[in-house]
Amino acid sequence: VALLALTACSSRSDSDSSGSTGSDKGFAADALIGVALPAKTSENWVLAGDLFTNGLKEAGFQADVQYAAASGTVADQQSQISAMVTKGAKVIVIGATDAAQLSTQVEQAKQAGAAVIAYDRLITNSKDVDYYVAYDNFKVGQLQGEALLKGMKEKKPNGPYTIELFAGSSDDNNSGVFFNGAMDVLKKEIDAGNVIVGSGQTDIKQVATDGWKAENAQRRMDTLLNGSYTNGKTLDGVLSPNDTLARAIITSVKGAGKPLPVVTGQDSEVESVKSIMAGEQYSTINKDTRTLVKQTIQMVKDLQGGKEPEVNDTKSYNNGVKVVPSFLLPPVIVTKTNAAEAYANDPKLSPLTK
Ligand code: BGC
Repeated sequence: VALLALTACSSRSDSDSSGSTGSDKGFAADALIGVALPAKTSENWVLAGDLFTNGLKEAGFQADVQYAAASGTVADQQSQISAMVTKGAKVIVIGATDAAQLSTQVEQAKQAGAAVIAYDRLITNSKDVDYYVAYDNFKVGQLQGEALLKGMKEKKPNGPYTIELFAGSSDDNNSGVFFNGAMDVLKKEIDAGNVIVGSGQTDIKQVATDGWKAENAQRRMDTLLNGSYTNGKTLDGVLSPNDTLARAIITSVKGAGKPLPVVTGQDSEVESVKSIMAGEQYSTINKDTRTLVKQTIQMVKDLQGGKEPEVNDTKSYNNGVKVVPSFLLPPVIVTKTNAAEAYANDPKLSPLTK
């Protein structure tokens, strides 16, 4: 602790003299760049790690890419970030495991003169986050809500429709944004009586999925089916925030021997794209990880050259202390109908759509 404090203090004067992210002075072309990712709760995180390792090296940097432990422990990520600061990383890219638990570490980073980029997930309650790069998460939720309505209408032209809602892990800032985006579309239908939430569980606290874990979603779906869908009552749709949870929900429904509802998803995971092509899962979202990592590395390169990185949104992402300048990419909704087109330039997914 003493050593860390010393490191932070001794370099504080350098960063104070510039008074900013370091973007106005640049840094060595072979500097160390830290990348702290959460647990591998979905395929996109696994892919991101490889892409950062290779992409940063290709760009001439030294890369230190770390994942929080499988359980996603906060302490793990905190010490990984502190270690990156101690090693002198010039930029620290963070996919937060718990949005609200990193303010001390990002403050250390800033005091040591490093820039901090929140990757995919916003870091909250901190003034020390310089940039946010992500797909437009609110839009992801809206697309999921719209897909759910569309899918149900395709199967059964007239409502009312009975649905259940699932959200992601409450420690991930994205979970609330996805959910609010979806409810932005669904709430009017619920209020009008066209859509009924069978269990009555509409509060994010009731529908969250701890740790984004499949087993937690599956267990909740089992409980819902046993509680609210006995006596032949049909479930028309399920709002699922991502593919891992969508497949867990489908497994639960199959296990209960009930007809499959329309289930949404996100991430374009291989097994879910297969499921969509087989007519089981209804939709997913394409958030090409290659593009997101590339955009982040571009930010790092700009910072290295002493340039202000490009952002395209300076109002949407208030982290509780400041609005974080963001670069937001557009997510794409994918169903069986447009899968071939959506994945045309993805060598891994494209063959699955043939
Ligand atoms: C990401 C999603 C992912 C989820 C679970 C979120 O923060 O934006 O793409 O499905 O984490 O890993």
